[in-house]
Amino acid sequence: MKAMLKRGATIVAASHNEGKVRELAELLAPFGVECVSAASLGLPEPEETGASFAENAAIKAEAAAKASGMTALADDSGLEVAALDGAPGIHSARWGGPGKDFGLAMERVHRELEAKGAPDARANFTCALALAAPKGSARIFEGKVFGTLTWPPRGGRGFGYDPIFVPDGYGETFGEMAPELKNRLSHRMHAFETLMEATYGA
Ligand code: IMP
Repeated sequence: MKAMLKRGATIVAASHNEGKVRELAELLAPFGVECVSAASLGLPEPEETGASFAENAAIKAEAAAKASGMTALADDSGLEVAALDGAPGIHSARWGGPGKDFGLAMERVHRELEAKGAPDARANFTCALALAAPKGSARIFEGKVFGTLTWPPRGGRGFGYDPIFVPDGYGETFGEMAPELKNRLSHRMHAFETLMEATYGA
């Protein structure tokens, strides 16, 4: 593990989502690890056929590591709304439609909550990170952040469902927050901490 993420290494961020690649690069930078995106290497986007965040993360990391011959780090993540039985969950990206329009996806969450007459807007983001070498299976690390959904959306920072998610203990949405603060609180950070503990015993 340590050899895969040693200072000065360059790894592939196995994602075509710019927001995720940026956040993964920000998390890795303090450890002297650089990343290039799967998109910039022209790697194909594998189909996410898994039944969980962990399975989908492993599919993406293993495909990118094999195709590039480099260590790959993949993120599979999404929003889980308690009153919607965990939806959109692993379908979070798909709720944005073919145009990946998260304005539409956020409206759908809002509409479905209203249809349920569900004032309880408890939700969490989950992130599974998968780290893979060109040969062998990926290792998986998970993290979550809990909060409440708000309507209408607020803030133009972050990506995806950030403008409707207010993390516990804060008044701002992830879309309003300084990126440094989101990166300290996020599901991605919690997953990353577990990965780093396993790697460096930090
Ligand atoms: P994936 O590429 O299938 O893992 O898609 C994950 C989707 O979940 C993204 O397209 C976003 O809509 C949503 N998502 C994951 N992480 C975040 C986050 O940190 N903020 C907002 N939305 C997120």
